Amino acid sequence: MPSFEEYTNEIKSLWDSRWLTNSGEKHRILEDSLKKYFNVPLVQLYANGHLALETALSSMDLTGEVITTPYTFSSTTQAILRSGLQPVFCDIDSETYCIDPDKIEGLITDKTCAILPVHVYGNICDHSAIQKIADKYGLKIIYDAAHAFGETIDGNSVAGLGDMSMFSFHATKVFHTVEGGCIVYSNPSYTERLTALKQFGMIGKEDAEYIGSNCKMSEFHAAMGICNLRHIAENIALRKKCVERYRKRLGLIKGIKLCPTQKNVESNYAYFPVLFDDEIFGGRDNVFNILNSNNIIARKYFYPQTSDFTAVRAAVKDIKDTPISKYVSEHVLCLPLYSELTIEEIDGICDIIESIGNS
Ligand SMILES: *Cc1c(COP(=O)(O)O)cnc(C)c1O
Repeated sequence: MPSFEEYTNEIKSLWDSRWLTNSGEKHRILEDSLKKYFNVPLVQLYANGHLALETALSSMDLTGEVITTPYTFSSTTQAILRSGLQPVFCDIDSETYCIDPDKIEGLITDKTCAILPVHVYGNICDHSAIQKIADKYGLKIIYDAAHAFGETIDGNSVAGLGDMSMFSFHATKVFHTVEGGCIVYSNPSYTERLTALKQFGMIGKEDAEYIGSNCKMSEFHAAMGICNLRHIAENIALRKKCVERYRKRLGLIKGIKLCPTQKNVESNYAYFPVLFDDEIFGGRDNVFNILNSNNIIARKYFYPQTSDFTAVRAAVKDIKDTPISKYVSEHVLCLPLYSELTIEEIDGICDIIESIGNS
């Protein structure tokens, strides 16, 4: 969080303007700052990442099937279903945990309209392979980039990939506005809909041109974003130190698998996922429970894969087997990671993990 003073200073002007929501000054400043930060022409802010994703899908007039992965947060799959579309689950790559592009083409039918890949843990999808497939079959690409804030690939912002990218600004993310999110896109013909759909489908003050929702970002949320954006580089640098320590301590331990670093990606160090071998660690849940009893809260993130949710099982007609996704979801823990985490705390966590592996 920014300091209390920095935030209260930022919101002071709202007591003069009495402008609390509906594209006020803070909203405009944050939108412009993000365009500069991402180095992209077009950004739209929303009340949260999930509704941004739903809005992206409904702005494109899609019908039919969307190829996506079940190794993601609930939101990705639910946004597809709530938009009246059918998710078609594709398995993931065993190193990046992102969609495996080699498995996409076999899932394409005459109903396929789009691909919705996820940059899992800030690992960037094989975007050129995905783009080739989309071009060949005339499919849209919407990236769930909730984990990828501020990252670049080969020197370019990841925000520019595909037709649209959704970023989440939830309190738990690397950059946050308490609750919030955005869509980044490059085709200006989407602007009217992306704007109208967050304000009841209205462009002007009387008619509703579209069936929309209400998912505007308020001035108080935008002000939090303005403050946090000032400290983002410092925040990411601190996270990097944590990740380097974790890697140094855990990288060579038998029975532990870490994600390889992507050489051409400037990472945001959003998460630190670890896969635990069953034989050596007695199961992922064993590690989770022992950490928990030491007051260390790791997350089974993502578990279960979304295709195993009760509601998704009921709503999706043909659920494909995704063995790699299932395996990763049953062996992964994301270890604590935030900018104020100290090296001593990380060492304490790693000592416990080491002792479980040796016992
Ligand atoms: C956080 C997250 C979302 C949803 O974003 P909210 O801002 O919480 O609505 C969607 N997808 C992924 C992968 C996420 O991690």
